[in-house]
Amino acid sequence: MADKCLICQIVEGEVPSKKIYEDDDIVAILDYNGANPGHSFVIPKQHTPILEQIPSPIIGSLFNVANKISSAIFDTLKVQGTNIFVANGIPAGQKVAHCMVNVIPRKENDGINLQWPPKQLSEEEMSTIELKIKEEIGSIGFSEAPKQKQEKPKQISEEVSGEDNYLLKQLKRIP
Ligand SMILES: [Zn+2]
Repeated sequence: MADKCLICQIVEGEVPSKKIYEDDDIVAILDYNGANPGHSFVIPKQHTPILEQIPSPIIGSLFNVANKISSAIFDTLKVQGTNIFVANGIPAGQKVAHCMVNVIPRKENDGINLQWPPKQLSEEEMSTIELKIKEEIGSIGFSEAPKQKQEKPKQISEEVSGEDNYLLKQLKRIP
C-alpha cells in the first residue's frame, strides 16, 4: 500500500484541521489557503480519487452537506454568493488525489476569476457531442458507481507514477 494521502491523514486526525462538520461518511474542513475566508472542503472519508468512484448515496450526501455549508456561510459571513465545485482530474485543477467539493464564499469584486472565454461550436459539432453523451449516459444508468466495465482506456498520454495519478489523468471508470 502506498502512503496515506494528505486528506486521509486530515480525515483521521493525524494532521490537524479546522473541522466544521463531520458524520459517518463525510467531513468538512476550512481551507487555510482558501480563495476567500470560509472556503471549505467537503470530503468523503473513504479515499476516492475522483467523483466517478464515489457511491451514489455518498455523492448525494456530499452535495447535501455542501449545500448546508453554503447556507451557513451566507448567514454567518454575510457573503453574496458561493461557488460549489469539484476539480475532477489534474487538467481540471485537482491537486490532491482525494475527491472533494469546494465551497467558496463570494462577494462582488472579490478578485476571484472563474471566467472563461466562450467557444463557438457549429451546429454539427453540438449535435455530435449531444448524441455521444446521451448514448453514454443511457448505457451507464444511474445505479451504484463505480460499475464493472470491460473498457480499455483509449489513450495514455502522460507517464504513470501511481494508480491515483493514472486515475486522475484518465478519468476512466476503474476496470
Ligand atoms: Zn485520501
